[in-house]
Amino acid sequence: MNILLIGSGGRESAFAWKLTQSPLCQQLFIAPGNPGTAQFGTNIDIKVTDFEGHKAFTLANNIDMVLVGPEEPLVKGIHDFFLNDEQLRNIPVIGPQQEGAQLEGSKDFSKQFMNRHNIPTAASKTFTEATLQEGLTYLATAGLPIVLKADGLAAGKGVLICTSLEEAQQELTEMLTMAKFGEASAKVVIEQFLQGIELSVFVLSDGTNYKVLPEAKDYKRIGEGDTGLNTGGMGSVSPVPFADKVFMDKVHERVIIPTVEGLKKDNIPYKGFIFIGLISCDGEPFVIEYNCRMGDPETESVLPRIESDLADLLKGVAEGNLDTKELIISNKFAATVVCVAGGYPGEYMKNDVITGLENVRGSIAFHAGTYADGDDIKTSGGRVLAITSLQDTMFNALQQATLDASRIYYDGKYFRKDIGFDLL
Ligand code: ATP
Repeated sequence: MNILLIGSGGRESAFAWKLTQSPLCQQLFIAPGNPGTAQFGTNIDIKVTDFEGHKAFTLANNIDMVLVGPEEPLVKGIHDFFLNDEQLRNIPVIGPQQEGAQLEGSKDFSKQFMNRHNIPTAASKTFTEATLQEGLTYLATAGLPIVLKADGLAAGKGVLICTSLEEAQQELTEMLTMAKFGEASAKVVIEQFLQGIELSVFVLSDGTNYKVLPEAKDYKRIGEGDTGLNTGGMGSVSPVPFADKVFMDKVHERVIIPTVEGLKKDNIPYKGFIFIGLISCDGEPFVIEYNCRMGDPETESVLPRIESDLADLLKGVAEGNLDTKELIISNKFAATVVCVAGGYPGEYMKNDVITGLENVRGSIAFHAGTYADGDDIKTSGGRVLAITSLQDTMFNALQQATLDASRIYYDGKYFRKDIGFDLL
């Protein structure tokens, strides 16, 4: 199979690493990729939302399957674009069509979906500019803290947890009347605050059959001890110790089955990954969010624990026979520590030369925000590298990934030294 992988982050580096282990994968192309993905396949300079570019490349290079890494092309309809094109129609795209991608693209859509299918989630109500007054009144009667969510994609910034009524009312007003998050906040979901501990569960679906992949926990805050600003993710671990059999059985019964069945009942075809962001409130699972793709940096911890052939699993998704495929999950522990650029998640440093990659011995260094400049590898993004270690114990995985992260050098480098240690 010739596979076209779309994306350029740490997640796509991990996909590229895993896919090229498959005897089914003949050629792997990554659009646009990064120097890490170039170790496993051929990078091609096509942007993730350049569908015409993907079309031309797919036809010229006998692509047999397209795997979409990030949400943006899915929410913008890359799968529909392929289905609606006579020449591309039979080339499977892994990732949902636009309607299914609404699970991530619209928080109002996903709340309605959960409520319709009795999937446990925080109580909520959605408001628009026309119903602002009702929203302000609703806030006055709701408890504190309260969560305000811009309906659309806002790069992880559209969720506000407000601790006073004044703050909540002002934020709601700014979101609805001043387009605080642009078009994304034309609708706002006001949601009850849930107290608990978060984790992510991943499901691979062919639209009928599904496999539950290893769960993971990510660390969003920039500072150690989970303090400071939110980031795209500073690290992840898999498995998650508190996600024991009792808890995961509840997740399966109350969340995963109703989600897959709900998509079927709603006639929403879904071939791809479903990322379910959960919060455990005293051992009871509630859905915080859905994403229509794998997480980053969770993928970097999840894929090394999958012993089965990923290309074969994806072939099962494409052909609708995922039930005939085997999913073997390793009992080992994976830990990922993300090295970020100085200043991140604010304005951050770029173009700094990275050295020490050859000293990473007990981990894999997945590239995220890097680029090649002659013989140098330099920093280009906020999240620069994801260092993943797979070991027999969680302690060893955490220690090894942290040690290997410390072996890399560039100006302004920062990483959290406490990823996962709270779970030991
Ligand atoms: P991201 O891109 O970081 O996944 P997002 O913009 O898609 O974020 P959510 O995942 O819905 O938004 O929310 C972001 C974070 O806000 C969650 O990971 C969680 O920590 C917090 N959060 C969201 N909803 C709630 C809630 N109801 N109660 C408590 N915390 C919440």
